[in-house]
Amino acid sequence: MKKLQLYNSLSNSLEDFVPIDESNVRIYVCGPTVYASPHVGNARPLVVFDVLFRLLRSLYPNVAYVRNITDVDDKINARARERNISIRQLTDEVIEEFHKNAALIGTLPVTHEPRATFHIAEMLEIIQKLTENGFAYENQGHVLFRVRKMQNYGILSKRTLDDMIAGSRVEIAPYKEDPMDFVLWKPAEEGTPSWDSPFGKGRPGWHIECSAMSRKYLGETFDIHAGGRDLMFPHHENELAQNFGAFGCVMANYWIHNGMLLVNGQKMSKSLGNIISLNDILRQYDGEIIRYVLLSSHYQKTLDWTDKLIFQSKQSLNRLYGALKLCPSKTENTDVNADIMEALCGNLNTPLALRILREIADKIYKSTNPNEIESLGSQLKNGAKLLGLLGKENDNWFKQNDGAISQEEIEKLIEERKKAKSEKNFALADEIRQKLLEKNIQIEDTKNGTVWRAL
Ligand SMILES: [Zn+2]
Repeated sequence: MKKLQLYNSLSNSLEDFVPIDESNVRIYVCGPTVYASPHVGNARPLVVFDVLFRLLRSLYPNVAYVRNITDVDDKINARARERNISIRQLTDEVIEEFHKNAALIGTLPVTHEPRATFHIAEMLEIIQKLTENGFAYENQGHVLFRVRKMQNYGILSKRTLDDMIAGSRVEIAPYKEDPMDFVLWKPAEEGTPSWDSPFGKGRPGWHIECSAMSRKYLGETFDIHAGGRDLMFPHHENELAQNFGAFGCVMANYWIHNGMLLVNGQKMSKSLGNIISLNDILRQYDGEIIRYVLLSSHYQKTLDWTDKLIFQSKQSLNRLYGALKLCPSKTENTDVNADIMEALCGNLNTPLALRILREIADKIYKSTNPNEIESLGSQLKNGAKLLGLLGKENDNWFKQNDGAISQEEIEKLIEERKKAKSEKNFALADEIRQKLLEKNIQIEDTKNGTVWRAL
């Protein structure tokens, strides 16, 4: 069996993956807070860890994949109030939309998808244990985690307490012994969801959710805990501290973090108005194109989302589906190309795996040997399956994504239009602009020449 290697944020090194129990591999990923459609940055861990799930399933007989749903949060309360609907109505609606979109970008259903509000008793049980062990204290209806008592706090994010205080957003509050202490339980605001507890009516903090739900479905120590790099501190650090404090063990052996996503080189933000919601982008593009884009950079690196990247991804998929069209699939061969397997086992190198797929397609286009074409066809199909790609019926792909135009053709037409303009043939120039628009390409004349973008 091919050895899987993963970059572990806990040890800050590339490690061989050795599961606790080979017959039951366990992975937990922090899921969405369901107040609105997630943005494309949130879709990245969905796709990346779906590939990890597929890979693990190809290597081990059983893989349990848990991805939670955070359905209690201030943003949820505020949004429900804004829309004048109940919290349950809002969260059910967003969860349904989330499932629809997760399927459109090709993710497999997870093994368990627990909702936070269904696991309050399990959270209170851990809070109780933390209190007994001296890691938690109650004050004014709040229960807080006593950070300074945890010797190895900072072990994951590699921060010292002084670093955290210096650059932090820690909240100084009268009920805290120390500004670093974080909330396990707090009183609920009037008119927001609350539950009975030994500390009065209230609601859980965010971090305790994941300790409770991962413990219930995967145990106190499991194999892989994954999520976006932005969750490493404080969320993952606090989850880790909670499990150390309550159970005296490490929560997970491997901590895997994906890098951030930029849009045209900039961070997505409300003030820049460049937040791309998954819902909106899926109205414009086939989910498989979005998936391809999200796998086109190595998961640890920053991914820069541009129209050009979307366009190129669509072109690559056209080429891959086009190659498959040439392959008769008489026999059901399940062999995966060894190079693709090696790329994915080498810390999930999806850009390399995609390149190998494109190379296989090139060989199919060039080959005249039917046996070779058939063998390449099954390598292409099986390799793509591991990445969650090329699962559609060929004709359907081309029906939904026709009208494609290559980058070379675009550049050529832009060149022709430039020439037409210089010859004052404006009718022809307009005709070319119209022709490009019909192919969903918009052009714009700028000081630096003509630029184009895919619509
Ligand atoms: Zn979490």
